[in-house]
Amino acid sequence: MSGSSTGNNLENRIPSAPPNFIRHIIEEDTRTGKYDGRVITRFPPEPNGYLHIGHAKSICLNFGLSIDYHGDCHLRFDDTNPEKEEVEYVESIKADVRWLGFDWKDHRYFTSDYFDRLYDYAVRLIRMGKAYVDSLSAEDIRRYRGTLTEPGKDSPFRNRSVDENLALFQKMKEGGLDEGECVLRAKIDMAAPNMVMRDPALYRIRKAHHHRTGDKWCIYPMYDFAHCLSDSIEGITHSICTLEFENNRELYDWILDTLKVYHPRQIEFARLNLSYTVLSKRKLIELVTGGHVTGWDDPRMPTLSGLRRRGYTPESIRNFCDRIGVAKRDSMVDLGLLEYVIREDLNKKAHRVMAVLNPLRVVIENYPEDQAEMLTAVNNPEDPDMGARQLPFSRVLYIERDDFMENPPKKFFRLSPGREVRLRYAYFITCTEVIKNETGEVVELRCSYDPATRGGDAPDGRKVKATLHWVSAAHAIDAQVRLYETLFSVENPAAAEDFKAVLNAGSVQTLTGCKVEPSLADAPPGFSCQFERLGYFCVDIRDCVPGRPVFNRVVTLKDMWVKIKDQHQK
Ligand code: ATP
Ligand code: MG
Repeated sequence: MSGSSTGNNLENRIPSAPPNFIRHIIEEDTRTGKYDGRVITRFPPEPNGYLHIGHAKSICLNFGLSIDYHGDCHLRFDDTNPEKEEVEYVESIKADVRWLGFDWKDHRYFTSDYFDRLYDYAVRLIRMGKAYVDSLSAEDIRRYRGTLTEPGKDSPFRNRSVDENLALFQKMKEGGLDEGECVLRAKIDMAAPNMVMRDPALYRIRKAHHHRTGDKWCIYPMYDFAHCLSDSIEGITHSICTLEFENNRELYDWILDTLKVYHPRQIEFARLNLSYTVLSKRKLIELVTGGHVTGWDDPRMPTLSGLRRRGYTPESIRNFCDRIGVAKRDSMVDLGLLEYVIREDLNKKAHRVMAVLNPLRVVIENYPEDQAEMLTAVNNPEDPDMGARQLPFSRVLYIERDDFMENPPKKFFRLSPGREVRLRYAYFITCTEVIKNETGEVVELRCSYDPATRGGDAPDGRKVKATLHWVSAAHAIDAQVRLYETLFSVENPAAAEDFKAVLNAGSVQTLTGCKVEPSLADAPPGFSCQFERLGYFCVDIRDCVPGRPVFNRVVTLKDMWVKIKDQHQK
């Protein structure tokens, strides 16, 4: 069976992504020969959680630029925070970047590999009189920092001699001081208008085990110190980060200039915000540990592993990232756009199949008891190369309960007593009798079929107003189907006082006793298809038992996003 996609084929990338201000900068730098025309970018995740769709934006941007400008993109684990980081996250991040279709070649780095060099750089700053060990408490450091409108105050320890600072920094390193007893700070300007420049901390004491360096270190560099120097060590040319770091650029430049080392250029862009979604690792961790979802790869999660399990393809996510573009101002992207790109991708690739989620039994009374016949069904009307398959038809069928109404209102054109409809790829049938149980619930329909309409057309040209999907009861396979809605019930859950209070209680509905056509018996995990008239569905990669598939609904067929777009254009 084909139709599902692992699709790591980068030739499907839009060959030249739309221009944006970062491309302009890079093209200008290439033209003027800055960095000798090289383009080296990096994606620097902190291994403290699983990657989400926001990270995909950064991955597609950084790796995409390196492909388009024939450079490299480094995968650097920013592992300076020993307490929160785990090997599990490192492995999941590598798997997710690869799944998206990108290759860091042999450029896989860890900031922790630079700990010795970073320490030496710190010593150099101390020798230059540009860094000092401060023994103020964390709280006092905060109080001395001042505010946006008031300058800060110098720490009483600011003028320690170089020798004293060197001795104290060494003592910090050797474990002779306790956590919180002191920090190493850059000596810049406590009255700087940019608060980031008011003697920022460079190193702190953390007596914690590190997943790579073990117990070698009990001091760890701060992000601002480690990040620019790691970029410099690796010869990054364009260091692309999100807008929150705009104020930190002055410090990035100060550290590299003061140490007189190779100096990449930091460029900021707007992070991705997505409606009905939270994109913060801290919040996503809370959802996992609090049991609000079944795990990092819960199909409702905006993580790459969740999206993959839901049935998103790497192409669709790369396409999404190309379409949202790169801007300098924060905005909120409509979740409908993500649904649009996967619908667009699966429309081309996915087999159409028949599945009945809420079955109603139908007996074709004039069809012979022991007969079954095979009918031809097209796999994908968008793509004749995808061929056709044989579908069994017999006397007892299932149709969707919603496709029948005993007393239909005016606009209901599907099956009702006395009404004729088409069964897709099969015959016209007419409902002749309704069977109910003691409580009055409809439990079965008796119908007749017209043998002359085989394949779904009447030779006399008579028309019907509805075409229904169906499966043959004797041949159908039982399946479980999970219908997903947004995880949150409000558009901007991040703005809620407690984001967990706006979780959507109906975000998953599990249907058992669904009936699917027999060709799906051996559908492999990850196989995506379209259930005719119902949506795109993907065989779950975790919960399937052979012969008893579990399907996740990837997305409905209805295109909300196009509607929203049309409304905006009116
Ligand atoms: P989070 O806010 O989810 O904890 P983070 O920025 O702390 O994210 P990192 O692991 O440090 O997570 O991120 C690695 C890279 O991904 C960074 O360069 C960061 O700018 C980028 N990134 C993170 N979230 C987004 C987002 N929503 N949109 C675009 N880029 C993002
Ligand atoms: Mg970060």
